[in-house]
Amino acid sequence: MICPNCNSANTRKKSVIYDEGTYSSTSTSNVRGSGASATSTTTSSGQSKLARKCSPPQKMSVIGYFLFIFLLFFIGQMIVLAFWNPDNHDLIAKGVTALGGVLALLGARGSFMFNRKEYPKLMDSWNRSWCCLKCGNLYETEE
Ligand SMILES: [Zn+2]
Repeated sequence: MICPNCNSANTRKKSVIYDEGTYSSTSTSNVRGSGASATSTTTSSGQSKLARKCSPPQKMSVIGYFLFIFLLFFIGQMIVLAFWNPDNHDLIAKGVTALGGVLALLGARGSFMFNRKEYPKLMDSWNRSWCCLKCGNLYETEE
């Protein structure tokens, strides 16, 4: 694939660069103490700068998003009410928790729709993306 910017043929697909530049390895070593021996496992993983630049789009976590918003409201409400301690404590607590639940549902729905509608498009465009290794130009092909 020829780079449209500098006409270099030294180009690679983003997905290839990503695979090449991402590594993870597990090494096991024996640790010997006084008479006892233990095994320590070290997992190392890393990514080159270019691989990070060429990483694929990420799906949004629907449940993660839901829990994040809900817990944010729930914990926030507990902290505020602990200091404030108003008369209608229970009502406010219930109201805020309900509001958090609704917003969490809306957020989760947003993540779900993103995964369903936007993510395949992003993934498709990523699969068609190339990177020029000469000038660093990123571009997409038609298919
Ligand atoms: Zn180029």
